[in-house]
Amino acid sequence: MMDIIRTKDVVYEYIRRDDEGAVTGITTAVDHVSLGIKQGDFIAILGHNGSGKSTLAKHFNAILTPEEGTVWVDGMDTLEEKNVWNVRQTAGMVFQNPDNQIIAPVVEEDVGFGPENMGVPTEEIWKRVEESLKAVGMYEFRKHSPNNLSGGQKQRVSIAGVLAMKPKCIVLDEPTAMLDPQGRREVLKAVHELNKLEGVTVILITHYMEEVTDADKVFVMDSGKVVMQGTPKQIFTLVDELKELRLDVPQPTLLAWELKKRGIPLPDGILTGEELVQAIKDLK
Ligand code: ADP
Ligand code: MG
Repeated sequence: MMDIIRTKDVVYEYIRRDDEGAVTGITTAVDHVSLGIKQGDFIAILGHNGSGKSTLAKHFNAILTPEEGTVWVDGMDTLEEKNVWNVRQTAGMVFQNPDNQIIAPVVEEDVGFGPENMGVPTEEIWKRVEESLKAVGMYEFRKHSPNNLSGGQKQRVSIAGVLAMKPKCIVLDEPTAMLDPQGRREVLKAVHELNKLEGVTVILITHYMEEVTDADKVFVMDSGKVVMQGTPKQIFTLVDELKELRLDVPQPTLLAWELKKRGIPLPDGILTGEELVQAIKDLK
């Protein structure tokens, strides 16, 4: 199957200048990144603050374009001006702060805003609004004011707004960072359902390890580079390396790793409490 997103040797730099315009510093935020993301996958991108996750993600819907290298979204080169509209329609973005993404005074209007801008016929807009709100479990709030919703509910409305544009791929940049645990669970559940039931490719950027255990594939970034990639099990086997990258590992993984170091023969890549309990029961 064709990759929905592919990057080859992508480089992006931020250049700082003083008042006279002289260059005072250069940050290579994305440093020769080559990766492929398969249509329908649930992908997680991990990395500590400043590792380049957001800058890379902005290349996935042509908010940024590479200074070196190439990004293809559904086969479309994002550097070609004529592709930008289609690229944005193919890969929708959800950001950290739902308050910056919700614009209309009523939930259903907000969700309809994207397709309206795209010139979708009115009847079709209402159909999409209904489907999108149902998909994220917010249909009963369609007449509400977004102001009165919880953080998790607002973020689900933002996701519905992106969904209403019928993207093949949705990129979420730390969508749960500002939410309480309940809100985080709601958003994660909604995003997993979109992936499973609607077949939308999901790219979830997060620093919460528990959010990546169900991903099909994980990319780990450090200093603008992709330094690890693999299944959650493969990644979380590398506890020492993750610690070096200043990343936490899930509690059960850490406990299993500590037990192994003390000579208890547990398998690698334990991700959940249930797996740990089962592995301990299985010890002969
Ligand atoms: P992450 O999302 O992983 O925290 P970012 O992509 O935001 O990482 O940042 C990568 C690097 O680029 C960091 O060193 C950051 O300070 C720098 N950076 C990000 N945005 C800007 C900007 N608008 N101007 C200058 N430097 C930036
Ligand atoms: Mg970021």
